[in-house]
Amino acid sequence: MNSPDSTGKPGFVLPAKKALGQHFLHERHYIDNIVLAVNPKPGDTLVEIGPGQGAITFPLLRKHGSLTAIEFDRDLIAPLTEAAKGVGDLTIIHRDVLSVDFTDLAAGGKLRLVGNLPYNLSSPILFHALDHAAAITDMHFMLQKEVVDRMAAGPGSKVYGRLSVMLQAYCDVTPLFVVPPGAFRPPPKVDSAVVRMVPKAPSQIAVRDPKRLEAVVRAAFGQRRKTLRNALSSVCDTDMIEAAGIRPESRAEQIEVADFIALANLPYGDAVEQP
Ligand code: SAM
Repeated sequence: MNSPDSTGKPGFVLPAKKALGQHFLHERHYIDNIVLAVNPKPGDTLVEIGPGQGAITFPLLRKHGSLTAIEFDRDLIAPLTEAAKGVGDLTIIHRDVLSVDFTDLAAGGKLRLVGNLPYNLSSPILFHALDHAAAITDMHFMLQKEVVDRMAAGPGSKVYGRLSVMLQAYCDVTPLFVVPPGAFRPPPKVDSAVVRMVPKAPSQIAVRDPKRLEAVVRAAFGQRRKTLRNALSSVCDTDMIEAAGIRPESRAEQIEVADFIALANLPYGDAVEQP
């Protein structure tokens, strides 16, 4: 087994497993840009989701000296461990990332998450991370560009929807750069993009009841062509929509994140479905 060389190439190559969403990044330019975007500082606790063959792992390890990586593919654990020797302090957690409690892992501190995520699991991973937002400083994730566009979209955009509102209610979302299919082996069918997410401080989060916000936003975008008066009829009445300062004739795609939060924060009674 070879150690990763100074260009950051992994010291091993295994066939990619489609079921685990394995598309290994190999273009140096994009790897460098991810490391630059993360810009680890002394004392940071870096956690990588899905290190694969180490394309991002080893450049980060070389720069920072230590990193924890969460990898589900058993076949990658031994080669990664071997390749990290002499490069830095790599701790590998062999688990499904969705079963990892980031709050426990942070042990009272805060994590900086990084990952070229398995695209089939990207939304569950995003929401799992949000459940532990208080233990996370920031996240730099590679996702399908189409997903990043939806995450960062604002009112008036065709792709503004449930994902945009539910993430932006809790995080600042900034798309950083696009990565073409040819940068990966095997190439995915679509463009990818790197996004930065910074959880808001608890004092900046206006949401009183996350489940209620979820119910309101789901109903609003579930029937996005309808007016809110109709789309929201199962979760609130017209008076409530007006009390939140929203025109009942408007459609979900026109409503600011803050206005969805204001509506979800209103007291609601037995007249409407509970979330
Ligand atoms: N970071 C590597 C790179 O950029 O070349 C690999 C990225 S690849 C798109 C996704 C990685 O996530 C793979 O290594 C895959 O085995 C891993 N993975 C897939 N499902 C996972 C899960 N549920 N928990 C943890 N890792 C997972």
